[in-house]
Formats: sequence, structure tokens, C-alpha cells
Amino acid sequence: MGKILGIDLGTTNSCIAIIEGNEPVVIANIEGQRTTPSMVAFTTKGETHIGVHAKRQAAVNPERTIFGVKRLIGRRADDEDVKSLINLLPYRIVPSSSGDAWVQIDNQSYSPQEISAMIVRKLKECAESYCSETITQCVVAVPAYFNDAQRQATRDACQLAGLEVLRIMNEPTLAALAFGVKKRSTGYVAVFDLGGGTFDISILQCSGGTFRVMATAGNNHLGGNDFDAVIYQYLANQFKEETGIDISSDKMAVQRVREAAELLKCELSTLTETNVNLPFLAIGPAGPVHLSLSMMREELENLIRPLIDKLNAPCEDALREAGITADDLDEVLLVGGMTRMPIVRSRVEKIFGNKISHGVNPDEAVALGAAVQSGILGGEIEEVVLLDVTPLNLGIETAGNRVSTIIERNSSIPTKASKIFTTTEDNQGFVRITVVQGDSSIASECARLGSFLLTDIPQMPAGKPRIEVQFCIDADGVVSVQGIERQTGLVKSLVIQDAVGLSSKQLEDAKKRL
Ligand code: AMP
Repeated sequence: MGKILGIDLGTTNSCIAIIEGNEPVVIANIEGQRTTPSMVAFTTKGETHIGVHAKRQAAVNPERTIFGVKRLIGRRADDEDVKSLINLLPYRIVPSSSGDAWVQIDNQSYSPQEISAMIVRKLKECAESYCSETITQCVVAVPAYFNDAQRQATRDACQLAGLEVLRIMNEPTLAALAFGVKKRSTGYVAVFDLGGGTFDISILQCSGGTFRVMATAGNNHLGGNDFDAVIYQYLANQFKEETGIDISSDKMAVQRVREAAELLKCELSTLTETNVNLPFLAIGPAGPVHLSLSMMREELENLIRPLIDKLNAPCEDALREAGITADDLDEVLLVGGMTRMPIVRSRVEKIFGNKISHGVNPDEAVALGAAVQSGILGGEIEEVVLLDVTPLNLGIETAGNRVSTIIERNSSIPTKASKIFTTTEDNQGFVRITVVQGDSSIASECARLGSFLLTDIPQMPAGKPRIEVQFCIDADGVVSVQGIERQTGLVKSLVIQDAVGLSSKQLEDAKKRL
């Protein structure tokens, strides 16, 4: 068996690792860095830059530099989250022919899968050059809170990059695996993962090589980007107050201030005071004007406290659903770049007590865990068992925009459950079922995975057919649906309609372009 690549395809940065001599190791990129910015830029000269080169030119080419594409993957353009991003992102988001959120550069539109594939392909090339062999298989990490459409889209991205996906795994679970395998720990571990786009909290029980996820919770709409947006708005407002100039329609200025906001946030993780200096940010009536101000860590913390407060509820939910209290926890692992912020750490201590483990690097833990999982698959690592859960309710849409839940969140995976459907009219030949996944009991607030047409129902009076529909979630968290008419025993065909994701034609087109 060849090498299997462990991939953490992050919102902001990505990281890869493999097993070497039975140990997971991070592979540096060709530029020598252990993480690679998840960015792709298209220049006016027709060149494509990926990673650090894309990041370096972002301020002068904002409309053609794509970042944070993980926030779009597997989502529809009319999704409320996507709509809220449209004004925040300097590049254009457009609906694809089937309504998915795509990116448009000049006259060419790209699926988020295709953009992600460009990043994965670069990571794959780095790994191949490090290992001096072709790599064709991978284990890829996704946020625990990714729904089925987002998981399938991530798999498509890896496949477009030439990698067969052996497993899709939840990021916090992988971080715990990397940590637990190293320390052979026993007890309850919480993984607190605050990255660029999402927040996940998982509680695991570790004992003798068995890792059982007991509960997972989180917020798909809370990450470093949201903190940056608050700081950006503060800086833009300060500039407007001082100069009277509104920069919001100047994309280059917006990008410069956005970058300064992120830098300021990162600097204030280690310094107690820092400065922002952006010369020639705009042109006023009296000539060029500059943005220059200083900020104390305390000021920053006051600015972002409403976002910090949002961290509590998912942690409390996870503890409750795991059936333990904070006192029962042995260790808390911090994952994701945002956990470097002192205010995030002190909030973690307030919620869970003083249990932060310093044994993992927040930028690398997920990729290392993906490599451990690849080592389990490849037979290099033995005696490790991983039991994960599904983080979202899976159900069907019923009358009045409601959800009838079929598989409850925090059920161990793989799992399956069935429901019996019938007809409402005599000789009704088909039944339509809309499958939804999410936290809410209101269907329109959940992700719509697709509509299934249950066809070829034998002719019978209304209410007579008994069609059993089986919903399965596999170990990757991927959903499949199967229908059987009970009286005839026939498996009915299920035709997926309006599912999010790429059609085989779109996949072929993207493959040709890559
Ligand atoms: P990740 O998705 O794990 O790569 O996390 C990326 C997020 O972490 C981005 O929002 C970064 O701005 C943020 N980040 C990285 N380093 C730091 C730091 N030293 N202090 C605060 N935030 C950071």
C-alpha cells in the first residue's frame, strides 16, 4: 500500500501529514512552511497562484484572490450564511446553474470544489516531492458540524485533485486522536476547536486505545473571520470619523484594512499594545490620507466580547449531552489558530477549569490526527479504535415547514434508521421526500440535502402501500437513502432532485480545466 496523505483543509490555512516510522509527521510545503494559506489567486496575466504566493499579492489583486472558500463549499447561493458573506468578500459569489454558491472571476465561474482542488493538488505535490513517490489516497478532515452536502463536496475536491478519499473525519476527533495516541491517555478530553470559519467542541472518552466521541456541538458561523470583520468595521469607522472618507466601495482599501485587522488581532495575542499603519489608504480633498492608530489588548477584548460570549452555549450543550460536568474532564485540547488569543484561553478556563493541555500544536493537530487515521488504515498503527457521532439531526420535511427527526444528533456512526411512508391518493405512483439536516425543528432553517422521488409504487388504494425508507449515515458522516415497498418487497428507485453538489458533467468539466 502506498502512502496515505492526512489532510487538514482549513478555512484559512491547510496542513498535511503522513506516517513515517509509525509516527505522524507534518510535511512542510515547497516554500518551507508547515501550513499553507488556503488561497488561490488568478492574475490578469492568466497565471494562477496558490498558497503563500496568492496571499502575498492579495492586497493588490483583491477581486481575483479567493480565500475562505471552505465557507462556500457544499452550500447554496441563497443560503443565509452565503448571503451574509457576499458583502464581506472582495470576490464575486454567483449561483451555479443548480443554485450552488460558486465564485466568479471575470467571465469564468468556479465551484468551491474546484478552488479547493487547486489547493489540495498543491499539497499533494508537496507531499509527493517529500516522499519521492506518487500519492493517490488520503484521509481528509472536515469540521464536525459539516453536513452531508459539505462532506460530499470536500470529497469531490480531493477527487478532482487526484486523491481517492479513504475516510472523511471530524477535525476535533482527529485532534484528539493525535493527542491521545501520543500520550496514551485515559479519561475525558474536550477538544475546543476555534479556527478561521467555524467553532467545534467535542467531548471524548479515551481508554486503552479506544476513543469514543460522546458529544459534539458547535457553531458553523463563528470563527476568526467574524472577529476580523468586527475589527475591520472598527478600523473603517475610526478612519471615517477622522477623515470623513468611507472606504467601503474601494476594494483595495477594504482588503488592506481587512489584512491589518487580522494582523492586529494576531499581534495582540502576544503584545499588550500594537499599532496599525496604513499609509495612502485613500485620497481626500487635501491629498493622500493615512490610517494610523494604536490599540491595547484590553480594547480589542472589549470589542470582540459579544463573539467570545457565543462560545459558552455549545460547550455547555456538549457537556450536558455527554452526561458529564466540567469537573469530570481531565484535559482540554485547543485547536485552531484563534485559540492563541488570551481571551479565548481564559474563557476556556472559565468554562472548563484550568485543564488546558499544552501537548498539541493548534495548527498541526488535525493533520497529525488525519495521518494517524491513515496509519490505522495502512496497518502501521494498531490497537486504536475510534467511535464518532453525527453532529446534526437528520430528518424529513413535513407539513408546515417542520422536521420529523429520523436520526438524532450525537448518535454513534455508522448508524441507520427507517420510517414507513404511505400514499394519500388512490393509485398514487410516487411520493416525494425532502431530506434535511440541521439543529432546528424548522425545515427551512436546516440544510436541504435533496428531494427524493420514490417512484414505481404499485397501484393500491390510498394509505395501503407501506414504503419503508431507510436512512444511513456511514462512518464518514455521509448520508444515503433507500426505499422498500413492504408488501411487494421491491426496492423503489429514489431519484435525487435539487441536491447540492456537482453533477458528473460539472465534475468532468472541472477535471478538464484543472
Ligand atoms: P485555522 O483555521 O485553524 O488555520 O485558524 C485560522 C484563524 O486563526 C485565523 O482567523 C487567524 O487569524 C487566527 N490566528 C492565527 N494565529 C493567531 C494568533 N496568534 N492570534 C489570534 N488569532 C490567530
